[in-house]
Amino acid sequence: MKRYEVVLLDADQTLLDFRRSEADALQAAFEQNGLPADGEFLAAYHRINDGLWARDNRGEIAQREITDTRFVRLFSAFGIDLDGRAFNDVYLDHLSRFAYTMPGAIEFCRTLREMGVRQYVATNGIARVQKSRYKRSGLDAYMQGIFVSEEVGAGKPDKLFFDRVLHEAGDPPRKKVLMVGDSRAADIAGGVRAGIDTCWIDPDGTAENGAETYRVRSLAQLRTIFLTEAGYGTDITANP
Ligand SMILES: [Mg+2]
Repeated sequence: MKRYEVVLLDADQTLLDFRRSEADALQAAFEQNGLPADGEFLAAYHRINDGLWARDNRGEIAQREITDTRFVRLFSAFGIDLDGRAFNDVYLDHLSRFAYTMPGAIEFCRTLREMGVRQYVATNGIARVQKSRYKRSGLDAYMQGIFVSEEVGAGKPDKLFFDRVLHEAGDPPRKKVLMVGDSRAADIAGGVRAGIDTCWIDPDGTAENGAETYRVRSLAQLRTIFLTEAGYGTDITANP
C-alpha cells in the first residue's frame, strides 16, 4: 500500500453503527406515539426507507423526498392518522442522540492520526444528525472534519461531491487520497469517478471482485495493512 495524505471515511456502517442507532431511534419515536416498534410495521418502514435510499443512490430522487415521504407512506399504508413529516423530525431528534462506533473505528482513526494522515468523514445524510452523532462518538478527536452531502450540495457517488470535499481539504493530489466505505454504489463508485483510490469494507467477504483498489473485512484489517504495508514502520501502535 502506498502512502496516503488524506483518507475519506464513510460514516454509516464504516465508522458508526447506523443500524444500532436507527433501531434505538425508531423504537423511541414509535413508542412515544403509541406505535409498534417491531413486526410487520417495522419491516414495512425498512422496505419503504431502503427503496427510497436506493432511488437516491441512483440519482432518481432528491434526499429531501426520502425524509419528507418515508413516514407519510408508512402511516398511509397502515391507516394511521399522524403527520409523517413532523414524525420524521421526532425520529431525527432521537437519531441524533444515538452514536455507536463500529468495532476498530477508534483504533483505526487514532493510528492514522499518529501517522500524520489527514482524515475526514465523507457522508451522505442529514447534516444535523450526522454532525451530532460524529461529535457524540468521540471520533472528532482524531479527525480534521466532516462533510455531509446536505451541506456540500451534492452526494456520493456524484463526482461533484468529491470535487468540493477535496477542495475544502486543501486539494491534495488525487493519487494521495483514499476513500473507505461499505457501499459499492456510493463510496466505491464515487471514488472511482473522482479518480481516487478506494477501499471497500465487505464484512462477509463473499462478493465478486469489483472496481475497488482494496477490499477488507473490517477497519481493524485495514489498520493492520496501514501498519505493516504502508512503509510507515511498525513502531506505531494503537496506544497514545
Ligand atoms: Mg455506509
